[in-house]
Amino acid sequence: MPGVYISYPFCAQKCTYCNFASGVLPRALEPQYIAALTREIQATEWPFTPETIYFGGGTPSQIAPTDLAALIALIPGAPFAEATLEAAPGNITPEIARAWVDAGINRVSLGVQSFIQRELSRTGRKHTAEIVEREIATLRAAGITNFNIDLIAGLPGQTAASWNESLDWIERLEAPHVSVYMLEIDEDSNLGAEVIAFGQRYGARDIPNDDAIADFYETAVERLANLGIPRYEISNFARPGSESLHNTKYWTREPYLGFGADAHGFDGRERIQNTERAEDYVIDPKPERTPADPVGERFFLGLRLMRGIEPPFGPFASKIKKLIADGLLESTGDRIRLTPRGVLLSNEVFSEFV
Ligand code: SF4
Repeated sequence: MPGVYISYPFCAQKCTYCNFASGVLPRALEPQYIAALTREIQATEWPFTPETIYFGGGTPSQIAPTDLAALIALIPGAPFAEATLEAAPGNITPEIARAWVDAGINRVSLGVQSFIQRELSRTGRKHTAEIVEREIATLRAAGITNFNIDLIAGLPGQTAASWNESLDWIERLEAPHVSVYMLEIDEDSNLGAEVIAFGQRYGARDIPNDDAIADFYETAVERLANLGIPRYEISNFARPGSESLHNTKYWTREPYLGFGADAHGFDGRERIQNTERAEDYVIDPKPERTPADPVGERFFLGLRLMRGIEPPFGPFASKIKKLIADGLLESTGDRIRLTPRGVLLSNEVFSEFV
């Protein structure tokens, strides 16, 4: 099921934990960016008819609905099996939700991260749990019943009690899909850089330790499974039938074209990546192509899925035997998959296939 990814790196604020190439960019750049996206999509010779679209970011819910509709209209294949828009809670009105539906959007991914006020305000997010609740009702009333809620395990000040409170909200809102990410500490986010520098801004001293974060993740796995939202990928949980069609193609190596700054694509043979900065992209997307690694990718992408992968295991047969003996992979008869411990040490496992 081939697809299209469109990146929109503009945000109302830079969240402390965010390590994406996105943030507060000059407003004057937005119309230039929409024009550049339009040019890039119009210049495409489609090697396939897309079945899914994903607007990621950044905050693509900031795109004016008329621009959103015009961009979608340039892509062949409508109506799409899945057309997702990432949204920051706080601005979803009945008019906007209706306009998204009219434009062809049928799934919304909400960057909630936490339902706890003190955790949210320390990260720079402006919404509250009540706003999220109201906006999900607004989406449902407009006909968008397929939505995702992002949560982050490891925010400053997070405790087992507050994490469980956020999971209570998932239950209350009857979310069909949840993504749980463990906080990443690197130089690319303000919070990560502060932690690395042993500073104390952004609550850097109040980050839960690695064991606590792993416990939060395991709690989510268990509680979400009990709610009928089992894990289908390391970070993704869904009610049966609500798994993301678009994101699944990343793990099964199906082709997709990427448009916009820092957008990635895969044509079946090569990985393609546009220039990272929006300021450069509006002048020239400068796509860089690198050959894909069909053998290794099948393992280190496919093993992210809880269903695992089938034989043949080719050049990796002996490594797989060792990983099984080490308790990081398990055989389910006709497939291999990560064990619960292998999930927590997945980067270590995947490095064996690179
Ligand atoms: S987390 Fe989302 S809204 Fe916040 S800065 Fe990153 S991309 Fe923007």
